[in-house]
Amino acid sequence: MLKNFSNVTQRLRRLSSQELDVSGTFQSFLLDLLDEGKQTLKVARVSVWLFDDLDKPSELINVANTDWSGKTLPEQLPTLQYEDFAAYFTAINSGRSIDANDATTDPRTCEFHDIYLVPHNIKTMLDTVIFKNGIPHGVVCCEGDKIRTWHKDEIAFAEMIADCCSRRLLVKALWQLQSQLTELAFKDPLTGLSNRRFLMDSAKREMSRHARFEHPFSLMMLDIDHFKKINDNYGHETGDLVLKHFAEICVNTLRLEDCMCRLGGEEFVVLLPNTSINSAMIIAERLRNEIEHARIATPAGEISVTSSFGVAQVNTSLPFSHALKAADHAVYQAKAEGRNCVVPV
Ligand code: GH3
Ligand code: MG
Ligand code: MG
Repeated sequence: MLKNFSNVTQRLRRLSSQELDVSGTFQSFLLDLLDEGKQTLKVARVSVWLFDDLDKPSELINVANTDWSGKTLPEQLPTLQYEDFAAYFTAINSGRSIDANDATTDPRTCEFHDIYLVPHNIKTMLDTVIFKNGIPHGVVCCEGDKIRTWHKDEIAFAEMIADCCSRRLLVKALWQLQSQLTELAFKDPLTGLSNRRFLMDSAKREMSRHARFEHPFSLMMLDIDHFKKINDNYGHETGDLVLKHFAEICVNTLRLEDCMCRLGGEEFVVLLPNTSINSAMIIAERLRNEIEHARIATPAGEISVTSSFGVAQVNTSLPFSHALKAADHAVYQAKAEGRNCVVPV
């Protein structure tokens, strides 16, 4: 039995209320809870196993384990198949805790006898169910090397650990949803480039950073020449493909720190941090040349495009829209000068 149940549960309640980073692996964000369980219940190991599918579970996947503490996750996570452990799966699905005092004879856990309990010297198990929307989602599995009688306080404590895991899994699911929404909000789905919203946010940050360090900051705007003709000649789908490959060519040519965004249609802006107008002109000319000589493979055959460029150094004491407008004007000028050229502001 637990020595001081109320102190132990207090500690767990505080632990589970801590803000934590759920962006990493399961191991990292569940491990403190599992370690707490291992120490308090004085067991050899505590692990978390989750069903592959809530509606039709066919296997349990071991996502966290106190044995992995301080180590990298195994490349292949251990799994248990329903057909091999039907009684165990049924017990979990009942939602009730599995207090297998003698795990080798308990009908819910004796399926593990030869393959796990004997080779690992496990004599007792206490498994508590992790729920999701009221449906069993997995288990927290505590294993000990001596037969024991699980006290109701210990079972209640292990159930609290499982509930804490449920909450953290929910937080992780919300975090994943949030990341997806952020990606949708800031990415252009066709090219995978950042969109106008990201550009404006990013420009604001870069403006203040460059103003503070008094580093030059430039931008280039580029617009594909006669892109309408590509749609007219080959169809919109091929036009889309050209836009996608065009973006790839640009990203592969630009430096890692340059931030290319799709402003809309066939217009793009590249933020060039720590770059003077002279260097920006060289970068733009290199990109112009690369685009001109690229052959974009499409089902309609190879297609070549050219682009017109406007390049500006950003005056960080004026609003960013000022530089954007100036670069846009330079693009118009490049079009007027015959396209496929770079014009500085
Ligand atoms: P210019 O050299 O003067 O820039 O000529 P342009 O034909 O490139 O410019 P215009 O603004 O007349 O036409 C742009 C075309 O880009 C028209 C539009 O249908 C096409 N476009 C914009 N967005 C997309 C897109 O997402 N996919 C495809 N396939 N076409 C697009
Ligand atoms: Mg165009
Ligand atoms: Mg345009």
